[in-house]
Amino acid sequence: MDFLTHALVGALLGELSPERIKNRQAKGALAAMSPDIANLVAYPYLGIKSGNIIPYAYPRDFYANPWIVDHWTWVPWEITHSFLFWGLIVMPLLLYFKKPLLFGVAYASHLLLDMPSHSGIWSTVPFYPFEYRFDGWFDAWAWGAQEIFISAMTVFLLWRCAAALKLSGPDVLAWPLEAES
Ligand SMILES: [Zn+2]
Repeated sequence: MDFLTHALVGALLGELSPERIKNRQAKGALAAMSPDIANLVAYPYLGIKSGNIIPYAYPRDFYANPWIVDHWTWVPWEITHSFLFWGLIVMPLLLYFKKPLLFGVAYASHLLLDMPSHSGIWSTVPFYPFEYRFDGWFDAWAWGAQEIFISAMTVFLLWRCAAALKLSGPDVLAWPLEAES
């Protein structure tokens, strides 16, 4: 998915989370965007390689350079988009540092949304390092402004509905032990 849709899904999840979490919408948004921090390896690399003025790669650069998916700069993205990384690293760390469950759920929302929205050689590898590719059915990562706007607006409206209906509760999106406190 595009970064704006990811952020707004995170904000929506934050809205549903317990009110005691300070700035829960912003925290949800950041957690939902965080798997793409790994893009800060391949995007600048390919941007420089493609001779762009701004060291950042556009979708057209990816389409022109399909070898990038076999390059080491692509690996961090596959790691952060793996449910094994989420389950074995992200969730245990959150539990250990007593961080809200919201972070883990928002992170997982990113992985789930990226599965249908990456297709062909750009597919996600949901159980990396195991080489199973999930072939999605569209390429939201290469969307233009109009598609991003429609997608983001849809989620934005859902978020505002959730806010208006005050759907958050003390034990929604909370760890089981957290619910009572
Ligand atoms: Zn992603």
